[in-house]
Amino acid sequence: MPQSYARRMDRVRPSAIRELLKHGADPALISFGGGYPDQRLFPLDDLRSVFDALLQPEQAASLQYTTSDGLPALREAIAERMTAQGTPMVADDVLILSGGQQGLDLVAKMLVDPGDTVIVEDPTFLGALIAFAPLEPTYATVRLDEHGMDTDHLAEVLAANPGVRMLYTVPDFHNPTGVTMSLERRRRLIELANEHGLVVLEDSPYRELRFDGEPVPTLKSLDTEGRVIHLSSFSKILAPGMRLGWLAASPELRERLGLLKLAADTQSGTLAMHAAASFIAGFDLDAHVERLRVAYGAKRDLMLATIDEAFPASVGRTTPEGGLFTWLTFPEGFDSARFMAEVALPEAKVAYVPGTTFFADGGHPNHARVNFSNVSDDDIVAGITRLGHHLRRELA
Ligand code: PMP
Repeated sequence: MPQSYARRMDRVRPSAIRELLKHGADPALISFGGGYPDQRLFPLDDLRSVFDALLQPEQAASLQYTTSDGLPALREAIAERMTAQGTPMVADDVLILSGGQQGLDLVAKMLVDPGDTVIVEDPTFLGALIAFAPLEPTYATVRLDEHGMDTDHLAEVLAANPGVRMLYTVPDFHNPTGVTMSLERRRRLIELANEHGLVVLEDSPYRELRFDGEPVPTLKSLDTEGRVIHLSSFSKILAPGMRLGWLAASPELRERLGLLKLAADTQSGTLAMHAAASFIAGFDLDAHVERLRVAYGAKRDLMLATIDEAFPASVGRTTPEGGLFTWLTFPEGFDSARFMAEVALPEAKVAYVPGTTFFADGGHPNHARVNFSNVSDDDIVAGITRLGHHLRRELA
């Protein structure tokens, strides 16, 4: 046992999600809590043939060390794909990551000194708060509504916090709320970033999982001064267990992030990088993503329709056009964590993530995040109906 720990460990605490996962063991429990993709949709046959080919003797280099920035073929494939989807870039702009989560760590290491202010949405992705915590930031939070980050409020927050370096946003199918930032607000955000010298971390792992409506241009594609770092991942479009993500940034930023990547873990797994590159080259990732869109879109529809039928009218919800989550708003005074501990888990046998965990400064007990991607249709109907029954009693 050391006599004491580094000061940053004061900020490193178990999260509510970890506590929640402990309840996952109860077989009767229906969990809307996680953010897992549906593993029945992993392209197992295609991946088996990809891995088979990579594990032949002439492909032994797929188990060798490789360059720290990532396999050139994969960086090339990502740049091509992103360019085709409206965010122009070249392979050199791309840094391969061990999951998008690593990008949150590296960008914070690059930009945050202890006590620095980081601007985040209120609420924001819990994994980002967890990744940033060891860098000991303070937060300035910006309101969010059905059109994403409120840029009028952002202008006020920037005026009150001169010298801020970093802003973090999840503009597409936000985690936890499911909302998407409008084009008008994206333009305004870029204007404000230019005016105030901000680096913008655009975290968009759900972007391709759009069920309806038109894609809104990425912040990166609207960036005029090389201020936006675009962060994405194979976790939701291929398989999270491969632990592969990527970021795209201007040469100046990408170079520094590459040095931090080298320091953190030398490189991402060569085999996983080869597999992703071979999958993209030899199979149809777009067709696979289309299957995911259809499947998750149907689950979204079922969940929203069941909520509308089963929940009391005083419970609000968002209408996500994609992604994996919807966000519930209960009447003022309702405590979703207490309700989960006392009613939802023991009586309804249903789990969700209480909203408080997603707010940098806590509070806001009257929200919850519910996931629809990793729950069967029967469980969506059964779990939401049970939850609705108990909510009606509670809120009567
Ligand atoms: N950003 C957001 C908004 C996420 O929801 C997630 C995964 N839940 C990640 C980043 C990180 O995912 P991964 O490390 O698996 O790529």
